[in-house]
Amino acid sequence: KMKVLSDNAQWFEDNAPLMEDHKKDSVVGVTYKVVTVAGESGDASPSTPIGVNLPNANWIRKEVGSKSVSLGNIINAYNNSRSSGRLKEFVNDEEEYELEKAHGELADKLHTALHEVIGHASGQINPGVGETKETLKNYASTLEEGRADLLGLYFLYNPKLQELGLVDDWKALGTAAYDGYIRNGLMTQLIRLNLGDDVEEAHMRNRQWVSAWAFEKGAKDNVIEKVNRDGKTYFNINDYDKLHELFGQLLRETQRIKSEGDFAACEALVEDYGVKVDQELHAEVLERNKQFPSAPYSGFVNPVLVPEMNGDGEITAINVTQPESFAAQMLDYKKNYSFLPEVN
Ligand SMILES: [Zn+2]
Repeated sequence: KMKVLSDNAQWFEDNAPLMEDHKKDSVVGVTYKVVTVAGESGDASPSTPIGVNLPNANWIRKEVGSKSVSLGNIINAYNNSRSSGRLKEFVNDEEEYELEKAHGELADKLHTALHEVIGHASGQINPGVGETKETLKNYASTLEEGRADLLGLYFLYNPKLQELGLVDDWKALGTAAYDGYIRNGLMTQLIRLNLGDDVEEAHMRNRQWVSAWAFEKGAKDNVIEKVNRDGKTYFNINDYDKLHELFGQLLRETQRIKSEGDFAACEALVEDYGVKVDQELHAEVLERNKQFPSAPYSGFVNPVLVPEMNGDGEITAINVTQPESFAAQMLDYKKNYSFLPEVN
């Protein structure tokens, strides 16, 4: 279903709110596939990404394109483990809750697809400017993730998605997507941090700087309202069209930063909006979250693949079985695959 996005990659590029010089004339070779994961290792296990987009080098992307895979069974597992209790605690009202219930899952899938396929593939670096890991250094990753998120956000609230047959009601879906992004970026992702910690991880940083920037820039028009009710904080979006515009402005700016390699602007954006946490709000969020037993991060066990042999020792089938437990699997890995010395 998401193939329609890669088929229309050029439309998204042409209609993105970027400066003309920063757009690609021809977006090449963007492919998107959903795969079923049979096992993961290294830094993709036991906690895992939900999608992978390669290569990272912009010059290769520009010339031959890029590939995205979305990890279908991982996304399904996440969706089935969501706690509606936690959602109820942090939504501002019943309407926000119902919209998330009705559209949240599809909105997340579409955001991931737009982020991976359209987001990372979009835009170009000015001639003579280096790769972002050289120009933007330690901020390159969070800038790039935020830019891809913003491209997704910009098009999530857009009738084009309905035209392409991806959604039944673009406005309801876009509304749910914006509610969820702001709720997470300004509040609920804080359950992953200990009180007093800064935000360090690139994606968490970008979700905060995107949300906090939009909150501040929209303050004079009350685009996003900080509500306090019975000692609890909520964020309510009053003007979705304005927020859509703000996301477009920030997208244009992040693309400018990337295209020009503007380190100073990048550092200011990330440090001013994406790193520090409001201590009072953080303490409140942790307190409200205490009642929910589910962990803030999810980990996955790998299925155990057991070959079935015939009399000649040929494999005739592979049986997919579950390990006894996560701990048992880790101990088994240590016993059978621990090839490196523990002390060098
Ligand atoms: Zn990404």
